[in-house]
Amino acid sequence: MAKPLVFAGSPLDRAGLRRRDASWIAAQLAREDSRFLPFWRLNVLVKTAKPELAWATSDIRAASEPRTGPVLLGVRGDVAHFAVDVSALVDPVAELGLAGAASFVEVRAAAATLSADDAAIVAQGRQMLDWHARHRFCAVCGHATSVKEAGYLRECDECDAQHFPRTDPVVIMLVASGDRCLLGRQAAWPAQMYSALAGFIEAGESIEEAVRREVAEEAGIAVGDVRYFASQPWPFPSSLMIGCIAHAESEAVTVDKAELEDARWFTRAEILRSLAQPGAGGMFVPPPLAIAHHLIRAWAEAES
Ligand SMILES: [Zn+2]
Repeated sequence: MAKPLVFAGSPLDRAGLRRRDASWIAAQLAREDSRFLPFWRLNVLVKTAKPELAWATSDIRAASEPRTGPVLLGVRGDVAHFAVDVSALVDPVAELGLAGAASFVEVRAAAATLSADDAAIVAQGRQMLDWHARHRFCAVCGHATSVKEAGYLRECDECDAQHFPRTDPVVIMLVASGDRCLLGRQAAWPAQMYSALAGFIEAGESIEEAVRREVAEEAGIAVGDVRYFASQPWPFPSSLMIGCIAHAESEAVTVDKAELEDARWFTRAEILRSLAQPGAGGMFVPPPLAIAHHLIRAWAEAES
């Protein structure tokens, strides 16, 4: 694939080796040219006049949650970039004096208009700040934890247990059988939308095993060969989507109604038609924001 999928491909150098350098971090936090990206209740600050991130200066730290950051996103040139959580504000746009200039936008909606570089930066910031918001207390002893290493570690104030940000792997697979592919839909989705089956990888499972188990559970189809396609960060809240093409070894679909409203085979011609004209033939697939779109398109457009 030529271009990274949406939410991947950040232009920042994550500067992982500098996170433990407390004096360097303190110097970057204080610099006037360091950039701070405000998030309010996981929504990101975007300029009103054009679809660009509305970076703030160090002054914004006065409004930020001291127990959730700031989080170092990375460095571009020699300028450090941080995410800050201003969720404690009640009316953030007014309190920050931003009326008319910028507003806080839900990240999926923002990603639809932001550049690929900006969307990737937002994904990192949203996932990190969400993790901090959910991990203020130690999972071992229940006491408060404190931010360390520029936001990449929380350490218990009482028992010294260390807690690191997590990413949850999810398999998402296009199940193919000759000229047909298997897609499903959940009852809560928009009417007529069908997508690739997906599910979380469980403990002690390989990617291939998770693909076979999920397809068997959700649709009753046996899968043989599994081939990796591409991956996509999905910060809602902390997934990594691992896209695969899976080859079916059985035909009869048995839908798990607890998970899916429907699952069925579509021909390549039906998929190509719905890609060209969403809704044609009574179905459409997810938009290009999602890896499912690229997985389905790649299979449909491949030489058969
Ligand atoms: Zn503890």
